[in-house]
Amino acid sequence: MAEHIGVIGGGIVGIAVARALASRSIRVTVIEKEHRVAMHQTGHNSGVVHAGLYYAPGSLKARLCSAGREMTRDFCIDKNLPYREVGKTVVAVNAEEIVRLDQIEDRSRLNGVPGLRRMSAAEMREVEPHVAGVAAVHSPHTAVVDYASITEALADDVRKNGGEILLGQEVLRITQEIGKITVVTSSQEHRFDRLIVCAGLQSDVVAAMIGASPSPRILPFRGEYWGLDSSRQHLVNGMIYPVPDPRFPFLGVHFTRGVYDDVHVGPNAVPALAREGYKWSSISLKDSWGSLTWPGAPALAKQHWRMGAKEISASLFKPLYFREARRFVPELRMSDLVAKTAAGVRAQAWGRDGGLLDDFAVDQVGPVTLLRNAPSPAATSAMAIADYVLETYMAVKP
Ligand SMILES: Cc1cc2nc3c(=O)[nH]c(=O)nc-3n(C[C@H](O)[C@H](O)[C@H](O)COP(=O)(O)OP(=O)(O)OC[C@H]3O[C@@H](n4cnc5c(N)ncnc54)[C@H](O)[C@@H]3O)c2cc1C
Repeated sequence: MAEHIGVIGGGIVGIAVARALASRSIRVTVIEKEHRVAMHQTGHNSGVVHAGLYYAPGSLKARLCSAGREMTRDFCIDKNLPYREVGKTVVAVNAEEIVRLDQIEDRSRLNGVPGLRRMSAAEMREVEPHVAGVAAVHSPHTAVVDYASITEALADDVRKNGGEILLGQEVLRITQEIGKITVVTSSQEHRFDRLIVCAGLQSDVVAAMIGASPSPRILPFRGEYWGLDSSRQHLVNGMIYPVPDPRFPFLGVHFTRGVYDDVHVGPNAVPALAREGYKWSSISLKDSWGSLTWPGAPALAKQHWRMGAKEISASLFKPLYFREARRFVPELRMSDLVAKTAAGVRAQAWGRDGGLLDDFAVDQVGPVTLLRNAPSPAATSAMAIADYVLETYMAVKP
């Protein structure tokens, strides 16, 4: 009988994996706990199609982001979905940041970022007239999209090619016998020959169901956005980013002109008190206790307490958030930041030693393939991650 593969998770990665399987005429069923696809990270992100500026050359992130960007662009053109190359300017505001900007420029060139240009302060102001800084790099092909719509369109392809997407079924238990995996959900039981787990913020919880290593654990980091008042959106043409701190896996508060022409400011990065905790008031004692008692917690706290305290203060006190954003857009006024409504929670994998995993990470346990770390730029890279998983793991007999 033909092989039947189960995919847990209806975010962009799970749906892209299912589409790749269905397009190869492999029988596939996706199981998603929410009533729509793209309800978590995929539907709560910055909508940026990254061009590969930051990632260690040769890493999975570098390779799959570059391939994924092209696949995303072609897919959007093919499906008539919005894809806008608004371009990204990474701005250094002082001499210390110039050293880091140089490193980003070197990495970008090694990663083959298309059209990358180093800019003087004067050249930078031709692209983004309201920015203040001493130098910048510009990536003209960094784009913006709507990842929730892309995921819906990928899901349509899955169904057209005979795949199934089951919504509103939470996976509660997984058991294995020789040659069969049984997945028990909130309403049904399913049998598969193989399983691919793309559960984002819950990936370690699902990994534990099959007896995989509890490490890496997922540490949820919330990213909060402010809108930019409609009368002030002329301050930003495309995307304006700070030079990121290399000790930290996030890119710093930035300005993005979104695919529907709105400008948002953010995201910051604060520890979330629940895996799917979109506000400070969403608290899970189980998730918070799990993070606090993880063996790596003291090492992480020691290394990042200063940055953590700064991010938490800026989340709680608008003037501090505003001060961060104004560093490179000095005309910004506090009243320009309006309606702090949107937020997303990042699934960041975290080792026992307290280290935050930088690269995408995949584990194989018998017939189960587990995506254990798929943070940014995994939305950009999703279709390339899908091909990578199929070529690397599905070719091997379980
Ligand atoms: C604030 C923020 C900004 C970001 N900006 C960008 C960006 O600009 N560009 C970019 O490329 N990336 C960005 N990212 C990262 C990107 O959004 C993620 O890497 C990507 O969406 C991961 O997709 P996923 O399918 O792995 O996870 P998710 O989208 O989180 O999907 C996982 C799915 O698994 C389901 N699930 C979990 N457990 C179970 C269970 N037990 N049973 C059934 N279903 C289950 C969940 O309900 C969820 O739908 C950002 C992320 C955040 C949070």
